[in-house]
Amino acid sequence: MYSGPGVKTSPDFPIPDTMKAWVLGNPGELKLAQKPVPVPKRAEVLVRIDAVAICATDLEIIDHGPPASILGGMPFNKNFTPGHEYMGTVVALGPGVDEYRIGQRITVEIHAGCGQCKRCREGMYTACHNYGLNYGDVDKGHRANGFTTDGGFCEYQVNNINTVIAIPDSMSDEEATLVVTAGTAMYGLTELGGLVAGESVVVTGPGPIGLLGVAVAKAMGANPVILTGTRDNRLKIGQELGADYVVNVRDEDAVEAVRRLNGGKGVDYVVECSGAPNAVNDAVRMVNRGGKVCLAAFPHRETPVDVAHIVRNNIYLYGIRGEGKSATHRAEAFMTQKRFDATKIHTHTFALDDLPTAIRYAKDRVDDAIKVVVKAKGIAAHRVAAE
Ligand SMILES: [Zn+2]
Ligand SMILES: [Zn+2]
Repeated sequence: MYSGPGVKTSPDFPIPDTMKAWVLGNPGELKLAQKPVPVPKRAEVLVRIDAVAICATDLEIIDHGPPASILGGMPFNKNFTPGHEYMGTVVALGPGVDEYRIGQRITVEIHAGCGQCKRCREGMYTACHNYGLNYGDVDKGHRANGFTTDGGFCEYQVNNINTVIAIPDSMSDEEATLVVTAGTAMYGLTELGGLVAGESVVVTGPGPIGLLGVAVAKAMGANPVILTGTRDNRLKIGQELGADYVVNVRDEDAVEAVRRLNGGKGVDYVVECSGAPNAVNDAVRMVNRGGKVCLAAFPHRETPVDVAHIVRNNIYLYGIRGEGKSATHRAEAFMTQKRFDATKIHTHTFALDDLPTAIRYAKDRVDDAIKVVVKAKGIAAHRVAAE
């Protein structure tokens, strides 16, 4: 029977001893396996995973390894379960946990951090100095589920309570998986200055973070919000999420278009979500003097950057990793208040058993897929029946 020292469970939510879990074998190879259901320790809960979204970073990890780091190295053939954008129901409480209750619907953010290093103490837990040190005699207790510890392509996972966010019943499972994506966009805007009401923002790249970046910037009162990209269907979704202007960079020069749309001087902030080869040079020419650029994409190659232009114009560049400073809670608050409809970027849902198909849809953008969500079988049917 499932149990652990000091762990609280409830007969309303029976927990099996083992669960279905996808594990990463060689690069690109996922296998469905049985694993023991993990047991929460102090300050942790056990989450029954009801839905998990696929992220471009998952595809990167499955095919290439980084930014995942398991036992101090590549994640292949280590019985590692990827997946990090999940939501579910709290079904067991670790010793002393009273912040959440069994049966509560929640979503999660990724990085728990070690909680004791300089950056964790500042709320910058995505830049934890003990990143990935959670094994053997260097165990600092760091967790980033789906990156340095097991993630969400399975039926249950443990989460530090610092990575858990309560959600209302009015929020669907699918929408709840998008909170962490909106939280990443929110963290970028927080680091740029936080209060963007009345300030001008460009978002480059209409991927999930870019599209929700538009939504969050607009919800925070930014004006205007300009979205640039290459796909008209995605730019249209950006407009529905709050972009005042969209620019298809295939049709016109993005820097010229931004300057024209904002009175010639350039904008206050750029949130760079495209990872395109010339993205940084374009971004620093889209901002006005003293403007700030948030770099939220992982480009594949090193690219030359016009440093002289950046220095001459006192432009600030911020590398932003993930969702620090509890930005996810602020994003969830916007979503609960229906300040924007994140579900506009959710396009497909598959059963957990169909993960390889779901991944193919996400990777090849089959049928214009943007966010593809996977749900544990039965639970999906149950929830629909219950609503
Ligand atoms: Zn992600
Ligand atoms: Zn830390």
